[in-house]
Parts: sequence; C-alpha cells; structure tokens
Amino acid sequence: MTRTALFLLLAALAAPAVQAAELVVYTERKEPLVKPIFDRYTQETGNTVRLLSDGAPVLIERLAAEGANTRADIFMAVDAGNLWQAAERGLLAPTKSPALEAAIPANLRDPQGRWFALSQRARTIVYSTDRVKPAELSTYEALADAKWKGRLCLRSSKKVYNQSLVATMIERLGAERTEAIVRGWVANLATAPFADDTLLANAIAAGQCDVGVINTYYLGRLQHDTAGYPVQVFWADQQGAGAHVNVSGAGIVAASRHKEEARKFLEWLASDAVQADFAGVNFEYPAKPDVKLDPVVAAWGRFKADRVNVSVAGHRQAEAVRLMDRAGWR
Ligand code: FE
Repeated sequence: MTRTALFLLLAALAAPAVQAAELVVYTERKEPLVKPIFDRYTQETGNTVRLLSDGAPVLIERLAAEGANTRADIFMAVDAGNLWQAAERGLLAPTKSPALEAAIPANLRDPQGRWFALSQRARTIVYSTDRVKPAELSTYEALADAKWKGRLCLRSSKKVYNQSLVATMIERLGAERTEAIVRGWVANLATAPFADDTLLANAIAAGQCDVGVINTYYLGRLQHDTAGYPVQVFWADQQGAGAHVNVSGAGIVAASRHKEEARKFLEWLASDAVQADFAGVNFEYPAKPDVKLDPVVAAWGRFKADRVNVSVAGHRQAEAVRLMDRAGWR
C-alpha cells in the first residue's frame, strides 16, 4: 500500500467522526414543495435532510408505533389540527427557542412549544368575477343567506381544512349558531361537495356555482397558470374577527436523537431568507410577519386574519366533525 492510499484509507475510517448530521423529516407537506428548500439547507450547512412523505394520520401512527426507536427528528404537517394531534399523542418535544418565538407570532405556534407554524394558509371566500360583485359579499356566515341558494360550492367536510374552519367558528360563535350557519350553507349548495379545492375553483370558473370557500394558494396556482382566470379572492369577516387562517408547521419529534440540530433546522426555516421561498413556492403566506410575498399573493391585497390560536382547530376538531355530520355536510 502506498502512503497516499494508506492516508485515504485512514481518512475514510475517520470520516464518521466528523460527518455532518442527518435529519429525518416525516412530512405531510408535499415533497416538491419542501425538497428544494431542504437541499438548500444541505448546501449551506453540510447537514443532509431525508424525508418521508405521507398523510399526517399515517405519519402520526407510524411515529407512535416506532416509539423510542424512530429515526424521525421532525414532524411536518399542513394543518394545525394535525400538529395538535401529534402533540396530544406525546410525539413532539417541547422546544425552547428565542429565535422561533421571535419569528413566529404566538397565535401560530403551540403555547407549549411543541410545534411552530412555517407558513400561513388563508381559507376565505372566492367568487366568480363574471357573476358576483365583491360588494355582495361579507362574512362566511352570510353565505348561508337565501340569496346564495343553488350558488354555493363547498369541499367535502372530510377534509381537515373545513374541520378547522368550523372548529374556529364554534370557538367564536358557539355551537348552536355555527350549526345554523352550516345548515344554511348545505341548503345553498349548487352541487355535492368537491374532493379538492382546485375542482371547486374550476366549478366556479365553469359556471356551476358562483361562490365558494377555499385555501387561497389553490387559486394562486390557477391564476398563475391561466391569465384572466375568472375567480377572485374576497377577504371574509374584515369587519369582524378576520379571515380564517390555518398553518403548515413542524415540531421536533420527542424521540429524536438530534434535537439540537433539529431546532437549528426549524430556526433556519423560520428565518427571513427561507420564509419567503417556503411560502412563495406554494402561493402561501409566510408565518413570519413582514416577509416578502409572491406577486400573485401580494395582488390579493392586505387582509385582517383571525387572531385566534390555531390550536383551537385541534381542541374542537371532534366537535366540528360531529356538527358537520348533523348538519348534513358530506
Ligand atoms: Fe392543500
């Protein structure tokens, strides 16, 4: 063996000691949205990020089954209700981070620090620019008025986004009033609830209905791809509590063996430079205030968001599901 070969062999044997950390992220947020950002983290820090994608309920069961043996360091989900569930199950570690607390507003993170929002997703009213004037619109509640009979489209009540919306309505208005509103919505439906928000927006564009409630990023994609797309955003409840916002976010897995690295990774995701891209790639709103918006998103104008802590979506999820079922929202 030459001296050079011996040196290379020794260097290779020594490598694990100086190897950068690898973080494993269990993510409900879709791979094409997060992979480029995770790769950027690797370029900047040398730490690799591996991801495993699935629906939050599947990932939560997997984390619970793996227990102390899990390789996961971070759990990432696209709804506060799902983040709350993971925390409730004891799967997330409380994290103390002045950087995260400074970056993420208090209503967009778990009061115990078990999860933090990384983007905000507004769920508001959208309307046909051909058949509806914005002056006709006001609140979510007003969509139950008889004037919208046969003109309203909704997504399925099975989607957690709608469960979270109804949960926050119960928190603010009480169960009785919320149920009356939901019954009014169901009575106004133009057609059976849709499987996703894109189908709903396209139904408005096609004239099947005139108004609906969706997460604005779905409309962002459609407006970005089709000039003059005939559906527009209306900010609901601006004289009242404000438009409903939900979050995508993440927490550190309770059984993670790389908690400090995981915390640094979350702090990096919450930094100005990353926040704009994390939200912008999907036409969402950054969780951190005053971060630059994508032009498609900025065009919808500033709005007042409901300030209720998004963990309400978890606390009242079961109650919301039962209410929607009673009211006949399929
Ligand atoms: Fe979505």
